[in-house]
Amino acid sequence: MSDKIVLAGGRVVDPSQGLDRTLDVLLAEGSVAALADEVPAPEDARVIDCSGLVVAPGLIDVHVHLREPGEEHKETIATGAAAAAAGGFTAVCAMPNTDPPIDDPAAVGFVVAAGRAAGSSRVYPVGCISVGRQGERLALIGEMVEAGAVAVTDDGSPVMDSGLMRLALEYAQAFGIPVADHPEDLGLSELGHMNEGVVSARLGLAGKPNASEDIHIVRDLLLAELTGGHIHLQHVSTRFGVESIRQAKARGVHVTAEASPHHLVLTHEAVDGYRTEAKMNPPLRTAEDVAAVRAALADGTLDTIATDHAPHHYDEKEAAFADAPNGIVGLETALGLVLTRVVAEGVIDLPTMVERMSCQPARAFQLPGGTLTRGSVADVTVFDPDAAWTVDPSAFVSKSRNTPFAGWELTGRPRFTIVGGRVVWEG
Ligand SMILES: [Zn+2]
Repeated sequence: MSDKIVLAGGRVVDPSQGLDRTLDVLLAEGSVAALADEVPAPEDARVIDCSGLVVAPGLIDVHVHLREPGEEHKETIATGAAAAAAGGFTAVCAMPNTDPPIDDPAAVGFVVAAGRAAGSSRVYPVGCISVGRQGERLALIGEMVEAGAVAVTDDGSPVMDSGLMRLALEYAQAFGIPVADHPEDLGLSELGHMNEGVVSARLGLAGKPNASEDIHIVRDLLLAELTGGHIHLQHVSTRFGVESIRQAKARGVHVTAEASPHHLVLTHEAVDGYRTEAKMNPPLRTAEDVAAVRAALADGTLDTIATDHAPHHYDEKEAAFADAPNGIVGLETALGLVLTRVVAEGVIDLPTMVERMSCQPARAFQLPGGTLTRGSVADVTVFDPDAAWTVDPSAFVSKSRNTPFAGWELTGRPRFTIVGGRVVWEG
């Protein structure tokens, strides 16, 4: 494959430099080499006609579960990276709740090597906060950072010990990385299977109240304030949670925070009929919560969109509701869902979407990309904002099919995913 590409005549949307207009982009030797009204194509360049398409800095998903090592029947680092590329993501951050968990430098090195070998979207490892995700002793944060970890988290589980969370924020600060936080008070939620509310009452299922999430959001905002550390709140789903983050940001607390596509477009009503494909943690909540999450995405309180891509095998999701695992796949539906159900509905505009899905995640996790400034890494997502398609899980590149969005009609689809100046996916 040529190492020079001209993306010709696309709508270049790059909020990192306030750009939204028709331009040519030249990629060469792995970098953005030129950006102008007209870039003469070098003789050996591949020219891609981008008229009618959007050219954006590559999308980055800071919250995915790739299941390797330990659950390779659900996903591997290679299939997850390929699914990311098919969804328009040039980079993903892999959560460490694997088996065994990614809690030491050797395990971090394994993820780095497997990501490189996959040769698709970039895969950045996130290490555990605590040894074995047991919530007792701090993992070797400095050594994991040296091996390539870009953040730490015990995601899938919260850190229940406030003292340990304080320590994590202090250590992570010393190494300049965020502590990514799954906020949940298990004492309130452990026995629950969905949002606690009218739908759980109707279905006769034990619920997880908003308070279980709110308590940890507030606690961890206070601990970030106490330590000066960077807390990154994952998959925020409650109205009190977003209001607490809004106030903390106004006080100058170092906090960044995610919205997941499913929390932007679905309520707990989606669980009706005991639909296990709508079972997730935190659970789908009420219409008031969804409205608050959407407003928070618009005003920047929630600054990042992240999928929480959580592949599960068909058989596991076929279980009774109470026994089925939490989570849905998200990499291959995120862009279409956000364009169709968030941007087209006027919640945010297209440049703000690129900010939330590329520029800000790169800044928060200090990753290359998130910009098309000259000299930056040539990670680019080219998408067709007008392409209509129907979600067909059987066509997913991911090994898993667990999605509540089967049959949804969406508008907007990736066309080219380019990593380091190389086309890794073409639709
Ligand atoms: Zn989580």
